[in-house]
Amino acid sequence: MLIFRKPLEGIERPQMPADVVIVGGGPAGMACALRLAQLIDAHNAKHPENQLSKENIYVLEKAREIGQHCLSGALLDPRSIRELLPDFEKEAPLDAQVEKEAVYFLTEKSKFKFPITPPFLRDHGNYVISLNRFVKWLGSKVEETGITVFTGFAGSELLFDGHRVTGVRTDDKGVDKEGHQKSNFEPGYDLNAKVVILAEGPRGSLTKQLISKFDLAKNANPQTYGVGVKELWEVPAGRIAAGEVIYTMGWPLTTHEYGGAWIYGSKGDGSNNVASLGFVTGLDYADPRLDPQRVLQEFKRHPFVAKLLEGGKMIRYGAKSMPYGGWWAIPPVAGDGWMILGDSAGFLNSARLKGIHLAIKSGMLAAETAFDALIKNDSSSATLSEFQKKVEASWIKEELWKVRNLHQGFEHGMYAGMFHTALQMMTGGRGLRNRYPAKAGYENMRKLAELPADGGAEAHLLGPAKGDGKLTFDKLTDLYHSGTKHEEDQPAHLVIHDTNICNTRCVKEFGSPCQNFCPANVYEMVDDASQPNGKRISLNPSNCVHCKTCDIADPYQIITWVPPEGGGGPNYDGM
Ligand SMILES: Cc1cc2nc3c(=O)[nH]c(=O)nc-3n(C[C@H](O)[C@H](O)[C@H](O)COP(=O)(O)OP(=O)(O)OC[C@H]3O[C@@H](n4cnc5c(N)ncnc54)[C@H](O)[C@@H]3O)c2cc1C
Ligand code: SF4
Repeated sequence: MLIFRKPLEGIERPQMPADVVIVGGGPAGMACALRLAQLIDAHNAKHPENQLSKENIYVLEKAREIGQHCLSGALLDPRSIRELLPDFEKEAPLDAQVEKEAVYFLTEKSKFKFPITPPFLRDHGNYVISLNRFVKWLGSKVEETGITVFTGFAGSELLFDGHRVTGVRTDDKGVDKEGHQKSNFEPGYDLNAKVVILAEGPRGSLTKQLISKFDLAKNANPQTYGVGVKELWEVPAGRIAAGEVIYTMGWPLTTHEYGGAWIYGSKGDGSNNVASLGFVTGLDYADPRLDPQRVLQEFKRHPFVAKLLEGGKMIRYGAKSMPYGGWWAIPPVAGDGWMILGDSAGFLNSARLKGIHLAIKSGMLAAETAFDALIKNDSSSATLSEFQKKVEASWIKEELWKVRNLHQGFEHGMYAGMFHTALQMMTGGRGLRNRYPAKAGYENMRKLAELPADGGAEAHLLGPAKGDGKLTFDKLTDLYHSGTKHEEDQPAHLVIHDTNICNTRCVKEFGSPCQNFCPANVYEMVDDASQPNGKRISLNPSNCVHCKTCDIADPYQIITWVPPEGGGGPNYDGM
């Protein structure tokens, strides 16, 4: 029987007072901590009689080391990091400045170059970075200020007092597969905080709790997502220059699916360059047999890409989701005792495939609000809702407003999407109406009975990738390159609320799409003669790369991703 992870009940937990707890040490959380430290230092220099302490400000990060769970493209729009650290270019790990960009439409064997680069994909002035290295550096700046970053600690529950968020419970450590305490058991801490800031990235698990408890999304469009599957390759010198950017649309997706690929060139060791390449598949496709990891493998088989990678070597793999829904899908971002930042709130510009600069800016604005709350000793929603106002008055809104209807315009496929995009560009983001509606991506998934048995025109994408071991890889080979490790003896952190649905309905109706959309082979349907369909769900949670796709794409919405024991997960060195 599967036992799922939840905080143990009926045990005594250490209590820790805190001024501010930031959950998640990605770009949003780290920028927030750093800006808060800057404001406190400036205040203390001016007011020796009324000093504020940084001792009780904490960042919780589930990865064992700062940045190890950070995966992105990544191109950095430097706008916000320049505001935060004007001299960042002197010390930040920036790989190369973008000097050349091109956009292609691919068919199975050919490519067509766009005569001009669409304005939102112009990247001159941006930097190619590894988000992993960038966040490590940002985190070291936070630690220099005296703020404590607890790595290997996940926020596992929010603490409430009525309508107020009063703190965060961290993960219990040393719990076995059956949910019993092991000899190394350590209960999670209760961090009782004046301000709780959620910066957990896409589909944050505490953010999901908060949104559901207070029904925060009731007036927003449902959030929609894409999943980006990425590989890093060392390629022979001369294939792609450091600072060269390639975007593609089209094949191997059909006109019914939303998504596209990137290839970014960065400096390697001199003899080889490193290419970051990946494919983002919108998690609103119809065919449950589609497999985003397979999509990336097919993409690499295109002659244009295969030639670029020939003689190269894949060195890292990973996957992560990103919120696509845009401005109308953002829930309220502040309330009594809490604020939500970065991808957790949905601050991502899907037209540009960029969210790092927005995550940093939202972190800075939340820090200014938290600082005011500490000065006033008031973290009620009256004070923290200033964050909402600051976002709306900032360039975050200005940027997202112009693309507010972008993803919704693709609801009826690529051609309709291109028509709406052109119209929206001419009307400042409006298009046919101010707010296009949206539906959650999983609602688009169709039952097998409604689809041709061979997938019709999409047949080449169905089923798992086999891999030739050189250019293309099966999931387990790819997964090996993600460096993922977890404590094996712990309850499953993929909480399936009713496994009967998997064994009796989903296997028949949708053919168990979890086996396809999970990029890490966590879900398997194993033979079991005692089950009505002869199959039973089985989990390999220690493979999980924390992409959150299952939580998002499951058509019955019965999967909840919760953090495993802190420290476990992928190792995204250089990603
Ligand atoms: C494939 C892909 C390509 C992208 N390319 C680009 C690009 O080229 N340029 C760009 O600007 N943007 C890009 N983005 C988007 C960008 O990466 C995100 O917008 C940005 O990383 C968001 O920052 P964040 O701090 O909000 O979240 P994240 O970067 O997701 O950081 C969240 C952190 O919180 C931690 N965490 C989560 N939950 C918990 C918990 N409960 N307890 C403790 N810790 C927790 C995570 O381990 C992680 O370290 C891309 C995204 C993807 C997926
Ligand atoms: S189990 Fe879910 S979160 Fe983990 S890798 Fe698979 S799809 Fe992603």
